[in-house]
Order: sequence, then C-alpha cells, then structure tokens
Amino acid sequence: MKQLAWIILCGLLAGCQMTAEERQAQVANDLTIKANTLSAELEDKGLRYPNASFNAYLESLLNGMTTEAERRDYGLKVFLAADPMVNAFALPNGHIYINAGLFDPVENEAELAFVLAHEVEHVVAQHSVKSAQQRSKTIISAHVLDLMLFGTGLGYFPMVGELSTHSQAHELEADALGYQRWRKAGYQKADINTLFSRLNNGEVPRSGSFLAYQSHPDTDDRANALAALMSAGESESEASANWQQVVDDVRLISARLKVRRHHFNRAIATADQLPETRRDLILAQAHLGLAQHPKSAAREKAWLLDEDMEDWLEHFQAKRTTHLQQSEALLMGIPEGAEDYLSAQKTLGELYRVSGDKDAAKAQFERFLALSPDGAEAFYVKGLLKTL
Ligand SMILES: [Zn+2]
Repeated sequence: MKQLAWIILCGLLAGCQMTAEERQAQVANDLTIKANTLSAELEDKGLRYPNASFNAYLESLLNGMTTEAERRDYGLKVFLAADPMVNAFALPNGHIYINAGLFDPVENEAELAFVLAHEVEHVVAQHSVKSAQQRSKTIISAHVLDLMLFGTGLGYFPMVGELSTHSQAHELEADALGYQRWRKAGYQKADINTLFSRLNNGEVPRSGSFLAYQSHPDTDDRANALAALMSAGESESEASANWQQVVDDVRLISARLKVRRHHFNRAIATADQLPETRRDLILAQAHLGLAQHPKSAAREKAWLLDEDMEDWLEHFQAKRTTHLQQSEALLMGIPEGAEDYLSAQKTLGELYRVSGDKDAAKAQFERFLALSPDGAEAFYVKGLLKTL
C-alpha cells in the first residue's frame, strides 16, 4: 500500500525518479494483481480442475520440495488445469498450473516433480518480474474470454503466455535451480533429460503458435544442460503410494477433455496408455468421434503433422465404417457389471444413431432406460429418443 501511494505521488511530481528496487516492487505488485485476476478467471471458467484429491496430491509434491516460509512468502500453490495440452506454467502470484495433458508424456513421479520444481524456481527467482522490466510494455491486453471462443482451453494462452513465458536464460536457470531443489527432496533418475524429448515428440503440434510445452521452448539445449548436471550414480526414485492411481485418473481426464474438444486422434494416443479396464469406453468414444466428425479429425491431423487438411478429410471419410466398427466392437466387449457398462450402452445407442440405423438406436436407448430409468443421463437419452 505504501508502495502504491508512493507511485501515485511520484506521478504528480515532475522529475521524480524511482530507484531500481522501487521500480521492481512496482512491477511485482502490478504482475501479482494481474495474476490474481487471471487465476480467478481460470477458476470461474472451470480450467482449474476442481478435484480435491488431485490438488492434495500435487500439494504433497510441492510441500516435499519447498519450505513453509517459501510457500507463504511467494504464495506458492499448485493446481491441476483442465487442459489436455502438454504444458505447465507458473503465474507471478505463485500459482502453478500443471495441465492434465502433461501427464501424457510423463513416465514417473520424479519427472512430474521436476516440472513442478522448475515452475517453483520461476516464481522464487521472480522471472516474470525481471522479464516484465525488460519489456517496454507490461500491459496485458489479451483475454481469457478467448477460450470461450475456441472452446479448447488454448485460448487463454495469450495472457498466460505473457505472464509465464521466459527467456532461454531464465529457463536454464529454472532447470538448474529446480534440479538442485528436486535432488534435495530426494528424487533421482539418471535419464530425466529424456523428458524434454518426450515433451517435444512427434505426437504434438509442430507448427503454429500452440506448441506443446509452449511456455518452455528450446528443449534440446535444456536437455543438454541438464544432462551435464546429473551425476552418473543416480537410480530411480520411489514414487508415492498413489502415483499410479493419480496418473491413470488424470490421463483418463485428459483423454475425455480431448474427446470433448474433438481432438480424437490425441485422445486415442492417451487412452492407449491406460490400463485395459479403463481404456475401452474412451477409446470407443474417440473412434465414434472420428466417424462422426471427419472434419474435426482431419483438422486435428493436419494441425498435428503440419499437413494438408483435404487429404486427411478424404482419409477419414473413407475410414468412417472402420471407425464405427472399431467403436462398436470395443463397446460390445465391455462386460455387464463393469464400471463403464451403463455408459457403454448409451454410447452404443449414439453409435447406431450416427450410423443411421434408427431402429437399432431406438432399441438400444430403450434398453439403456430400462437399466437406468432415473440416472443422470436418462433425461438426455429420452431427448435423443424423441428425435428418432
Ligand atoms: Zn520454464
């Protein structure tokens, strides 16, 4: 508050000059206000995944690598972001977001912890403040509203990008300091530098502005620098008891988000990483999506591979029947009594409807309603029945 009063006073007096520290404090204050606004918007728009157990899990990783004083002084908090893109970012108010999509390439808990340690260092080293001071403009004009337009979650990147994109020097510093922090917390894994190549592997978009791990460029240089820090004797570290459960749960969320956003090809890649019992329904839904929305499927492929959309559209139109058959076989294979059985019955009805087989769709929806007359989805299914 004292700072603010001083700034206002300074504005009134001609020739008044701030010291470097005062300017830095002003920029830090300004960025924190913007970050708080953005954080609130991310929460409002449902991009902060509201699951208490995931947030508790991420918090336990954060607590293992930071002191109470650090968490208090820098406002450090960690959240799961309901976004299927491979990314993580820290805002200047100390809020760290780990995207659900980051769990796709991450192979073990130590790697996830390293990403988190890296983000912590961006906050603690005040990289955003230093970057903002170097830029002539610090006003953030982009808007979270964008994500309403795209419906992909990507739209919030302009603002997130401005608050969390760092120079190469800051990235290397966050890696080096993060590595020390991570080791001190007891993690070790000799080949953690291969994480960078997985963050940048072929499955992710190669062109355009929405690169994977977008706020963290130059992964090759970073992998080399990190490899130089590592000691030869490192072995694998032990994961938390619930690591496997968390990673499976989050990957399922990530796959569902992809289906919802019509990233069907990426959803299949993510679903393939799930254990068999949890894989088939989401796989079936993704194949149904490929059959039902060939344009979306082609757009996604063209975007992923930087290729021509028209060629891919032809491909998906030709493969429509194949994807419908694959989806049906997967759904039929989900046994009665399985957790996904009911949803599979509903999806089968949708599949018959998409196939144009009205009688089969009607019979299937009636079958679903007989099994679940008052379930949460009964209303939706009754609506579909009326259209047949
Ligand atoms: Zn970074």
